[in-house]
Amino acid sequence: MENKNTGQPQGGPPKPPAGQQGMGPKLPAGPRNPFMWGWLVIAAILAVWMFTGDRVVPAEADWNTVRSEMIARGEVEKIVVVNRETAEIYLTTAAAERLRGQEKYRNIPTDEAQAQLKFTIGSVDLFAADIEKAREEFGLELPLDYRNEKSGLGTVLLNFLPWIVLIGFWIFMMNRMSGAMGGGPGGQIMGVGRAKAQVFDKEKQTKVTFKDVAGLEEAKVEIMEIVDFLKKPEKYKELGGKIPKGALLVGPPGTGKTLLAKAVAGEADVPFLSISGSDFVEMFVGVGASRVRDLFRQAKEKAPCILFIDEIDAIGRARGRNAGYSSNDERENTLNQLLTEMDGFGTNAGVILLAATNRADILDKALMRAGRFDRQIEVGLPEIKEREQIFEVHLKNLKLVPDLDRAFLARQTPGFSGADIANVCNEAALIAARGGKAAVDKEDFLAAIDRIVGGLERRSLVMSAEEKRLTAFHEAGHATVSWMLEHADPLIKVTIIPRGRSLGASWYLPDERHNTTREQFMDKIASLLGGRVAEEVFFKTSETGALSDLERATKMAYAMVTYFGMSEVIGNMSYYDSSGSGDMSFTKPFSEKTAQEIDAETKRLLGLAEEMARRVIVENRAGLEALAGRLLDKETVFAEDLEEIFGPSIAEKKKAAAGGDVVAPQSEEPLLDNARDESGDA
Ligand code: ADP
Ligand code: ZN
Repeated sequence: MENKNTGQPQGGPPKPPAGQQGMGPKLPAGPRNPFMWGWLVIAAILAVWMFTGDRVVPAEADWNTVRSEMIARGEVEKIVVVNRETAEIYLTTAAAERLRGQEKYRNIPTDEAQAQLKFTIGSVDLFAADIEKAREEFGLELPLDYRNEKSGLGTVLLNFLPWIVLIGFWIFMMNRMSGAMGGGPGGQIMGVGRAKAQVFDKEKQTKVTFKDVAGLEEAKVEIMEIVDFLKKPEKYKELGGKIPKGALLVGPPGTGKTLLAKAVAGEADVPFLSISGSDFVEMFVGVGASRVRDLFRQAKEKAPCILFIDEIDAIGRARGRNAGYSSNDERENTLNQLLTEMDGFGTNAGVILLAATNRADILDKALMRAGRFDRQIEVGLPEIKEREQIFEVHLKNLKLVPDLDRAFLARQTPGFSGADIANVCNEAALIAARGGKAAVDKEDFLAAIDRIVGGLERRSLVMSAEEKRLTAFHEAGHATVSWMLEHADPLIKVTIIPRGRSLGASWYLPDERHNTTREQFMDKIASLLGGRVAEEVFFKTSETGALSDLERATKMAYAMVTYFGMSEVIGNMSYYDSSGSGDMSFTKPFSEKTAQEIDAETKRLLGLAEEMARRVIVENRAGLEALAGRLLDKETVFAEDLEEIFGPSIAEKKKAAAGGDVVAPQSEEPLLDNARDESGDA
């Protein structure tokens, strides 16, 4: 019993890997390596040299034959010692003719200038002495020459072969290490320092426009100015206006930052160069910097254009944080080069730099200075209306049942990013196909959402009957308490179907609001503790499955006391550190006495919440039992079931009585975001 969730499933929906953005590096086609041609030529020459058998070369002979036969007859014109190892015998024309008659010497050269015979000599001095003796013996002149000869092509190749192999191997390794470099002059060999930006030209690419980007209205407005500039640069130049050189898109992964940048290029009808920050990080020193240089050179050639750097935090991380690690030097050089290039191009160069990150806070402050990324555009997770629009965009390509409720889908996907929604649509289509359906229906979407949120269903996980009963009461406890407390999150459904690592879960609809009141905190903590309290009330026991409930409840109570000033004893003080630099684990910003007070207050708040939960559960004993029974029966129950058992939720009743909107609280998830927002506004 690992992890029973209440509220939104923890951690939110799984984020798609970065590579899923359809913009991964592409391998260059065609002959991978220009050097290959060199190899082919060399191989061809070697082959020709080795297999041309009928070339005219001096015939092999030996000293004794030459001495006793040719010299004795006076047929030798001269002797040449080549490279101090071979003796070449030049015969008279008549002698050459005579020899050619013999089978053995059939192929000796006819050319006067060439030797007809040759043999290897042991030592030059001994050979010279032999010649001298022969001269005396036969009374002949026998001229003896020496010659040093450059070796033939083959020998050259043989001598250089090891080097060729070595160099070839080295180049091969370089290619392997630096991945597939973009084409262009120099290709692979000189490609290490080249930036492998992906270029989407207007002709090549199916254009992405603002129509394809759902929601993100504010971001679109901000970015419109850039489009305008790219379309009519003269207008701005005449007015002397300055256009920001760069804009930073900040937001969690999958929220459409890349899509937005592409849409800017599409709207303005200019080329779009895309590269990921991590492409600059290479094992070779200096490569990052030279790639930055090359990237900007490419961009300037294509100007006007959009240059998009994804995951800029890979290079833009604040410098000098880990002073002492030399491994950071390379990244710092890269960052410095980036800053230099950004300063280097004029505002009117027509290159607009867009960069994306999900953590603006860790970027080097120098990047934010005026004239660089002086504009930050928030690209947040979509809210309910935006999610509906994103569904609209991605449903276009699916074959759907006619009455599919998009608002319903949007309601079922709180916390989903655009990429998650795209995933849901894709997954739903797959599920429908697997079921052999003609059109994708609501059930397929629900299954897809479940799959993406909670990991694959594990119906096969064996739970003992006792365990299952305990889980049912635990989950019913959460549900009952949240149903009966005014400020708890509205419940969507409760399930005891194990998914991923959790045995059961309650799902709440978080509101899109960005503030949480003290009452909402308390009701939420009470609902979290409801599971454990129900176990205690009905079984007089407790189990480990409540771990994550307790953890979250404790953290919330602690945050109320230390961050949000919601405890009278501590007062309106916040120990939240928005800069993230202070290390709470070493030095606490409060005294030992305050620490004890914080502990006591946290405990008191948790106690109060537990009291609330216990009261609700005891008062609604029968209803809770009925709910647990239904859970055991159906495994999943919805808000309607609770309404049948308990009547309308307290929040609904209050709402009906007041005739107005009840402010529903928000899920626990964005708690720290809230804290950050607040501190930012202050
Ligand atoms: P990011 O760059 O922020 O990580 P992407 O722009 O690569 O995210 O988004 C990934 C995919 O998610 C897009 O290709 C698109 O299919 C989908 N998506 C994300 N946000 C939106 C949106 N606002 N409208 C439509 N589709 C979106
Ligand atoms: Zn629980």
